[in-house]
Amino acid sequence: MKFKINKQIESLKPYEPGRPLKEVARQYQLKKVIKLASNENPLGFSPNVNDAVLKAMKDMNRYPESAANDLNNKLAEKFHLSRENIVLGNGSDDIIALLCHGFLNEGDEALMPLPSFLMYEISVKTAKGVPVMVPLNDFSTNLKGIVEKISSKTRLIFITNPFNPTGSTISFDEFNEFAQQVPQDIIIVVDEAYIEFVRSDKVYNSLKNSLQDQRIVSLRTFSKAYGLAGFRIGYGIMDAQIAQILNRIRQPFNVNSLAQVAAVAALDDEVFFKKSIQSTHESLDFMFNELENFGIHCLPTQSNFFMLDIKTDAGEVFEKMLKLGVIVRSMKSYGFDTFLRVNTGTKQENFTFLQALKKVLKK
Ligand SMILES: *Cc1c(COP(=O)(O)O)cnc(C)c1O
Repeated sequence: MKFKINKQIESLKPYEPGRPLKEVARQYQLKKVIKLASNENPLGFSPNVNDAVLKAMKDMNRYPESAANDLNNKLAEKFHLSRENIVLGNGSDDIIALLCHGFLNEGDEALMPLPSFLMYEISVKTAKGVPVMVPLNDFSTNLKGIVEKISSKTRLIFITNPFNPTGSTISFDEFNEFAQQVPQDIIIVVDEAYIEFVRSDKVYNSLKNSLQDQRIVSLRTFSKAYGLAGFRIGYGIMDAQIAQILNRIRQPFNVNSLAQVAAVAALDDEVFFKKSIQSTHESLDFMFNELENFGIHCLPTQSNFFMLDIKTDAGEVFEKMLKLGVIVRSMKSYGFDTFLRVNTGTKQENFTFLQALKKVLKK
């Protein structure tokens, strides 16, 4: 190509989203397809969201409220902090990108686990930074290894807790020990996309004790537990000085009007939220039990998804499951050649998944 591109981007592999339902149905001429590949909420979202969004439709000729007052106020109240500590994003992906653009100069380093959520690497490289990746240790974040890789160029550290794709977690003790070893001028981004599903109180939660450490940026999303993935809305909670930078560089209308009202309505419906979490836990217990009965080992999880070792080529099993109308994730591209990742579905979907897997593995 005659145009000169950002060199960092040349080495990027494009993000591979889960296969969309309609596409798979068309390709294999299937009437019914289920998707347990993108950690979405199988129950949908609160009926309140539906009502609020339909009501807001009449104002869609107007630009969104840039300050997102209702949502920011609600989040400030929920977490007992000030609006100055909140940044809203077009999904938490957006905030990951803002952090990279706001805090990386050319050649600056961002540390992250390997494998990781791909958006970290994509955003770091787009901002002309250098991702420095630290392999997992027995499916868990290698915090010691990350500390060892800190250099004078390190500006950001990405931590995911619970971890995607393995479901592993970092305890309060582990996190505190790690944070003590991180220099004061490095931002520690804690991506808590799945924190709402955590059952163990030992698992680190960055918002349990509000904002004592200026280095910590917490990322949260409405895409998973709240079921709003299609609306694209997430948020970061952080020191006001950091938030000010991100708010200065974000697109003024990065969170659209419908996403704003959807998020407010979702926060207002505790009943649906609790039902979602409870149903996730019941599904996990059911699936783990069934799979262990087939002799399939599952990695422990504190999320709404888990990895399972099928002891055979995950790419092939993925394809065979697709043909039966069940979309899961092969972990082959992550270096886990015999592992699948699945999220919890409805009772019916869980059952369909188990039947399909049994068939494919001839169990
Ligand atoms: C799903 C997910 C997110 C959320 O992304 P959104 O842009 O908010 O939809 C963030 N981080 C991780 C690790 C995830 O798996």
